[in-house]
Amino acid sequence: MTECVFCMIANGTIPATIVWEDEHVVAFRDLHPQAPVHVLIIPRRHYSGMEDEVPAEAHAALCAAAPAVARATGVAESGYRLIVNTGPDAGQTVAHLHVHLLGGAPMSEGMVTLA
Ligand code: 5GP
Ligand code: ZN
Repeated sequence: MTECVFCMIANGTIPATIVWEDEHVVAFRDLHPQAPVHVLIIPRRHYSGMEDEVPAEAHAALCAAAPAVARATGVAESGYRLIVNTGPDAGQTVAHLHVHLLGGAPMSEGMVTLA
């Protein structure tokens, strides 16, 4: 997907502040952070989102990356929240599967905010 912004970040065509990566996954700072630590964890391979027949191995790679990203960004002890927006009601704006890792300050207890 050459026109996908996250594919371009994964293959180095456009810059991002990469905080962690491995063979399957890249993690980089969100352009518009909503917490002191706001990182996007993406598979190198393009999937449009959770509804795109993502193989279990790709999900496993994303979840396995989260604690490593948390350690790399200093929030492993203080805690963090993982969010995957899926589709219009959830406000997904980039059609490349991504997990938000948010931390660095206390967050509200509720997870759901209706528009
Ligand atoms: P979504 O709303 O789809 O769950 O999240 C997309 C996220 O990607 C947003 O938080 C947005 O700030 C971030 N984002 C969009 N374009 C770019 C970009 O070019 N670089 C980076 N680092 N983040 C981006
Ligand atoms: Zn993509």
